[in-house]
Amino acid sequence: MPTYEFMCENCSEPFDVRATIQEKENGLQPPCPKCGYQETRQIISGGLFIRTSGGSSFNPPGCAPNSGPGCCG
Ligand SMILES: [Zn+2]
Repeated sequence: MPTYEFMCENCSEPFDVRATIQEKENGLQPPCPKCGYQETRQIISGGLFIRTSGGSSFNPPGCAPNSGPGCCG
């Protein structure tokens, strides 16, 4: 069962909710566990941090893979 991250519109309390895909498709909107406020919104996580691979496969900025001799030393 996936976990969804929500945030309260009233007190900005973040909280996690475990729900099935079916529940999510039906418009999941759990109340705030802190203040009980009904208006909550889902926090879309992922995509905020781009993980670079690093290492030898990393190309320096401005250097295309097939630039030919003389590029980037
Ligand atoms: Zn709240």
